[in-house]
Formats: sequence, C-alpha cells, structure tokens
Amino acid sequence: MELKLEDITLEEQEELKRNVLVTSLEQLKGWARSGSLWPLQFGLACCAIEMMGTGAAHFDQDRYGVMFRASPRQADCMIVAGTVTKKMAPVLRRLYDQMPEPKYVISMGVCATAGGPYVRSYSVVKGVDQIVPVDVYIPGCPPNPAALLYGINKLKEKIRYEAKTGKRVTDR
Ligand code: SF4
Repeated sequence: MELKLEDITLEEQEELKRNVLVTSLEQLKGWARSGSLWPLQFGLACCAIEMMGTGAAHFDQDRYGVMFRASPRQADCMIVAGTVTKKMAPVLRRLYDQMPEPKYVISMGVCATAGGPYVRSYSVVKGVDQIVPVDVYIPGCPPNPAALLYGINKLKEKIRYEAKTGKRVTDR
C-alpha cells in the first residue's frame, strides 16, 4: 500500500519524521563498522606504551566500542605503534594479509610514519605505507592516548564517508 503524506494528519507526519529513518544498507553497515572497531595491536617500540595506556582505565577506549584483539583473524584495524624494522616488515605484512576485509591501518607516531629518529638507520623501514596501505597517520613522538583516540575518530569518519559516497579514500 502506498503512503501519501497528504493523507495523514500533521501530528502523524511529525511522528513519522521522528521515528522513520531512510538510509542505504551500505551506510548502515559503515555506521555499525565504525562503531565497533577491533584493532590488532602491533606495538613495536615506545609508542606502544601510549597505545596500551589508551586501552587502560584512565582513557578507556572500550567505551567507544574499540577493543584490542590479539588475533588478526578477529581484527579489522591494525595500529602500528613504533619503529618498523626491516626484519619485522614481512611479519607485519603477513598479519595484515590474515585480517579479513574490510581492514584499516593506523600509523601511530613518526617512527611508523616515516622512520622517525632512526630515519638514517640501515635497519628501519622509512614508513609503514611501504608495506601496508595506511588510512590514518598520527604525528608525534610519541603521540599521547588522546591523539590516538582522535586518530581512531578520524578513521571512523572515513569509514562512514566511504560508505556514504562509495569512494575509496585509500588505494589498496
Ligand atoms: S615515534 Fe618516538 S616514541 Fe614512538 S616509537 Fe618512535 S621514538 Fe619511540
């Protein structure tokens, strides 16, 4: 049966506006996905201490639906926190490959993003984007938990934007 707005009273129209939401399935999935990010912890150096602090009682990232997982198979987001050495790079890539789609990467700190203080070292990767596609970069040495929470919120915005527009912001 077709519903015509002019056939119902003004009060009923107001009631409809308050209670009926029209959206696409993709947007609904993006909203649900952005509200329940499960990051794989990838702590590699001092930045990892700040990442651990974000999950602890004071900052309590669980309240945002963000819960650390210890297995790539249960995670949809990788937080790379710290210096990525060339020795560790293949392991990082393997764990990323084991994560189910869709998956996202946060580069936490200047070491993960560009090599940081070790940029001239023979053994350090000059940016984790050489190994995996990065969605959000968080600057700092180290970024504090508030910065990581801000980065997580930016990733949530990005997931919802991609679901709404159908565009991929990061090439994979
Ligand atoms: S960015 Fe700074 S705090 Fe983070 S791992 Fe590198 S040296 Fe340590």
